[in-house]
Amino acid sequence: MVKLHVFGSSAGTEPQPGRHHTSWALEFDGKLYWFDAGESCYHTASEMGLDLLSIKTLCISHPHIDHCGGLPNLLWAMTKIMQVTARSKSEPLELFLPDMKILSGVENWLSTFDKWRGFPYDVAPHRIADGVIFDDGKVSIEARHNFHLGVPEDGVFRSFSFRIKVDGKVIVFSGDVKSYADMGDFLDGCDLLLMETGHHKSSEVCAALRREQRNIRDIIFVHSGRELLNDYNNALARAEAAWGAPLRVASDGSTFEL
Ligand SMILES: [Zn+2]
Repeated sequence: MVKLHVFGSSAGTEPQPGRHHTSWALEFDGKLYWFDAGESCYHTASEMGLDLLSIKTLCISHPHIDHCGGLPNLLWAMTKIMQVTARSKSEPLELFLPDMKILSGVENWLSTFDKWRGFPYDVAPHRIADGVIFDDGKVSIEARHNFHLGVPEDGVFRSFSFRIKVDGKVIVFSGDVKSYADMGDFLDGCDLLLMETGHHKSSEVCAALRREQRNIRDIIFVHSGRELLNDYNNALARAEAAWGAPLRVASDGSTFEL
């Protein structure tokens, strides 16, 4: 069985009661496939009873603080767990980044700490580009650039959406997008869409996706912004009316069985 764990469910515009910045992971066959690392992700995951040393892949969708602000804490926490439990990490951490400056920045920051001796586990860094970025025979992850950060002057996109295949299911994570249309045919026939609503009206996205008959079987809203914060029940009711079926909103500490 695949489980979807949510560590942070809010957009980054402003602090939200009971919600922290975006982070979630799939759990399958004893491993965690982790996406984005907002502020307190490591703490919430630990409180949920998850083993941080079982993280196999960690993908950052784009270099904004509400998606990677918790990365230093997460990598540090893994280090501390190894030190205090004398356990080791059995395989490298496959770290997928939209800009390698994220890793050098984290290492520079951690190097200012007196106890820092470098990562005690293998880190395999990769820069994300369009196409399949990971496939271990159980889980595959495909990336596609989006237009959340516009069209870059240097031609190198640094914001991505992801399509994950696991246990016969197809899950699409929007990341942050300019429009749902950024995801193109990633959406067609997917079993679950994790759709950010920090930059979009949930009902408008649902109406468009229903009109276009993309054959999306389920939607969970992530990266919630003002719309759901201000008027949760009515916003959700409008979205469900537009979609024509029940919808769910991710909250911090929630787990969905897929
Ligand atoms: Zn964001």
